[in-house]
Amino acid sequence: MTSEDWESALDKFDWNDVLSEVDGELLEHLASELSFRTYQALKESSCPLGDGYHLTHLADGRWAFWNEQNYVKEDVRFFETAQHFLHVAVDEFKLEQPQVQDLLERLEKTPHLKLCAVCGHHFNPDDSARRELGIEGIFLDEENREGECCSPQCAVEAVVHDMKEG
Ligand SMILES: [Zn+2]
Repeated sequence: MTSEDWESALDKFDWNDVLSEVDGELLEHLASELSFRTYQALKESSCPLGDGYHLTHLADGRWAFWNEQNYVKEDVRFFETAQHFLHVAVDEFKLEQPQVQDLLERLEKTPHLKLCAVCGHHFNPDDSARRELGIEGIFLDEENREGECCSPQCAVEAVVHDMKEG
Protein backbone atom coordinates (compact mmCIF):
# COMPACT_ATOMS: atom_id res chain seq x y z
CA MET A 1 0.00 0.00 0.00
CA THR A 2 1.36 3.43 -0.93
CA SER A 3 0.80 6.31 1.41
CA GLU A 4 -1.69 7.74 -1.07
CA ASP A 5 -3.76 4.55 -0.99
CA TRP A 6 -3.68 4.66 2.73
CA GLU A 7 -4.88 8.24 2.83
CA SER A 8 -7.76 7.62 0.47
CA ALA A 9 -8.72 4.55 2.47
CA LEU A 10 -8.79 6.68 5.60
CA ASP A 11 -10.88 9.26 3.82
CA LYS A 12 -13.46 6.67 2.97
CA PHE A 13 -13.48 5.34 6.50
CA ASP A 14 -16.51 6.54 8.38
CA TRP A 15 -15.76 6.97 12.06
CA ASN A 16 -19.39 7.66 12.77
CA ASP A 17 -20.16 4.07 11.81
CA VAL A 18 -17.61 2.74 14.26
CA LEU A 19 -18.74 5.04 17.04
CA SER A 20 -22.42 4.23 16.65
CA GLU A 21 -21.53 0.52 16.65
CA VAL A 22 -19.68 0.95 19.94
CA ASP A 23 -22.56 2.94 21.39
CA GLY A 24 -24.98 0.27 20.24
CA GLU A 25 -22.96 -2.40 21.99
CA LEU A 26 -22.90 -0.44 25.23
CA LEU A 27 -26.63 0.10 25.10
CA GLU A 28 -27.21 -3.61 24.52
CA HIS A 29 -25.03 -4.18 27.57
CA LEU A 30 -27.18 -1.77 29.56
CA ALA A 31 -30.27 -3.67 28.40
CA SER A 32 -28.95 -7.04 29.53
CA GLU A 33 -27.84 -5.52 32.84
CA LEU A 34 -31.49 -4.60 33.44
CA SER A 35 -32.68 -8.03 32.20
CA PHE A 36 -33.99 -7.04 28.80
CA ARG A 37 -33.59 -9.10 25.66
CA THR A 38 -32.59 -6.07 23.56
CA TYR A 39 -32.03 -2.36 23.95
CA GLN A 40 -35.06 -1.85 21.73
CA ALA A 41 -37.20 -3.77 24.24
CA LEU A 42 -35.78 -1.74 27.12
CA LYS A 43 -36.50 1.54 25.39
CA GLU A 44 -40.03 0.58 24.38
CA SER A 45 -40.82 -0.46 27.96
CA SER A 46 -39.45 2.74 29.49
CA CYS A 47 -40.72 6.27 29.91
CA PRO A 48 -38.68 8.95 28.10
CA LEU A 49 -38.07 12.02 30.25
CA GLY A 50 -36.09 14.14 27.80
CA ASP A 51 -32.35 14.80 27.41
CA GLY A 52 -31.78 11.08 26.96
CA TYR A 53 -33.14 10.22 30.40
CA HIS A 54 -35.45 7.26 30.81
CA LEU A 55 -37.29 5.67 33.66
CA THR A 56 -38.08 1.96 33.83
CA HIS A 57 -40.43 0.32 36.32
CA LEU A 58 -38.81 -3.05 36.98
CA ALA A 59 -40.62 -6.24 37.92
CA ASP A 60 -39.28 -6.14 41.49
CA GLY A 61 -40.95 -2.75 41.98
CA ARG A 62 -37.79 -0.64 41.72
CA TRP A 63 -37.48 2.25 39.30
CA ALA A 64 -34.36 2.39 37.12
CA PHE A 65 -33.27 5.86 36.03
CA TRP A 66 -30.77 5.89 33.17
CA ASN A 67 -29.47 8.03 30.37
CA GLU A 68 -28.87 6.66 26.88
CA GLN A 69 -26.29 9.32 26.04
CA ASN A 70 -24.02 9.27 29.04
CA TYR A 71 -24.75 5.90 30.54
CA VAL A 72 -21.02 5.12 30.46
CA LYS A 73 -20.23 8.02 32.80
CA GLU A 74 -23.46 7.96 34.71
CA ASP A 75 -24.45 4.65 36.29
CA VAL A 76 -28.02 3.48 36.32
CA ARG A 77 -29.68 4.66 39.53
CA PHE A 78 -32.33 2.66 41.31
CA PHE A 79 -35.20 3.95 43.43
CA GLU A 80 -37.36 1.85 45.73
CA THR A 81 -40.52 3.85 45.04
CA ALA A 82 -41.84 6.43 42.58
CA GLN A 83 -41.97 8.94 45.47
CA HIS A 84 -38.28 8.44 46.13
CA PHE A 85 -37.48 9.14 42.54
CA LEU A 86 -39.76 12.17 42.46
CA HIS A 87 -38.07 13.72 45.50
CA VAL A 88 -34.62 13.31 44.03
CA ALA A 89 -35.65 14.47 40.55
CA VAL A 90 -37.40 17.60 41.84
CA ASP A 91 -34.38 18.47 43.93
CA GLU A 92 -31.71 17.63 41.37
CA PHE A 93 -33.35 19.11 38.29
CA LYS A 94 -34.95 22.04 40.16
CA LEU A 95 -38.39 21.29 38.77
CA GLU A 96 -41.18 23.84 38.93
CA GLN A 97 -44.78 22.92 39.73
CA PRO A 98 -45.98 22.32 36.11
CA GLN A 99 -42.96 20.12 35.44
CA VAL A 100 -43.62 18.14 38.61
CA GLN A 101 -47.21 17.63 37.45
CA ASP A 102 -45.99 16.48 34.04
CA LEU A 103 -43.51 14.08 35.63
CA LEU A 104 -46.23 12.65 37.88
CA GLU A 105 -48.38 11.94 34.85
CA ARG A 106 -45.50 10.21 33.11
CA LEU A 107 -44.80 8.09 36.17
CA GLU A 108 -48.41 6.96 36.22
CA LYS A 109 -48.25 5.97 32.57
CA THR A 110 -45.01 4.01 32.92
CA PRO A 111 -45.84 0.31 32.73
CA HIS A 112 -44.96 -1.94 35.66
CA LEU A 113 -43.02 -4.70 33.93
CA LYS A 114 -42.94 -8.41 34.64
CA LEU A 115 -40.20 -11.02 34.38
CA CYS A 116 -40.70 -13.96 32.04
CA ALA A 117 -40.77 -17.25 33.95
CA VAL A 118 -38.83 -18.95 31.15
CA CYS A 119 -36.22 -16.57 29.72
CA GLY A 120 -35.97 -14.20 32.71
CA HIS A 121 -36.34 -11.06 30.61
CA HIS A 122 -38.61 -8.14 31.39
CA PHE A 123 -41.74 -7.65 29.35
CA ASN A 124 -44.64 -5.24 29.37
CA PRO A 125 -47.91 -7.07 30.08
CA ASP A 126 -49.85 -4.12 28.59
CA ASP A 127 -47.80 -3.90 25.43
CA SER A 128 -50.03 -2.92 22.51
CA ALA A 129 -48.35 -5.48 20.23
CA ARG A 130 -49.29 -8.23 22.68
CA ARG A 131 -52.86 -7.00 22.79
CA GLU A 132 -53.07 -6.90 19.00
CA LEU A 133 -52.01 -10.53 18.94
CA GLY A 134 -54.70 -11.25 21.50
CA ILE A 135 -52.18 -12.29 24.13
CA GLU A 136 -53.71 -11.59 27.50
CA GLY A 137 -51.34 -13.63 29.54
CA ILE A 138 -49.54 -16.89 28.90
CA PHE A 139 -48.99 -18.95 32.00
CA LEU A 140 -47.08 -22.17 32.50
CA ASP A 141 -49.74 -22.96 35.06
CA GLU A 142 -52.93 -21.62 33.47
CA GLU A 143 -55.11 -22.79 36.32
CA ASN A 144 -53.28 -20.84 39.01
CA ARG A 145 -52.11 -18.13 36.62
CA GLU A 146 -48.52 -18.68 37.68
CA GLY A 147 -45.28 -18.64 35.72
CA GLU A 148 -46.15 -15.93 33.22
CA CYS A 149 -44.25 -15.96 29.91
CA CYS A 150 -43.16 -13.03 27.78
CA SER A 151 -44.12 -14.70 24.52
CA PRO A 152 -45.71 -17.79 22.98
CA GLN A 153 -42.17 -18.84 22.03
CA CYS A 154 -41.11 -19.01 25.68
CA ALA A 155 -44.20 -21.01 26.62
CA VAL A 156 -43.44 -23.51 23.85
CA GLU A 157 -39.81 -23.69 24.95
CA ALA A 158 -40.90 -24.57 28.48
CA VAL A 159 -43.14 -27.38 27.20
CA VAL A 160 -40.40 -28.79 24.98
CA HIS A 161 -37.98 -28.62 27.91
CA ASP A 162 -40.46 -30.51 30.13
CA MET A 163 -40.87 -33.19 27.49
CA LYS A 164 -37.09 -33.65 27.24
CA GLU A 165 -36.83 -34.01 30.99
CA GLY A 166 -39.53 -36.65 30.70
ZN1 LIG B 1 -39.50 -15.16 27.80
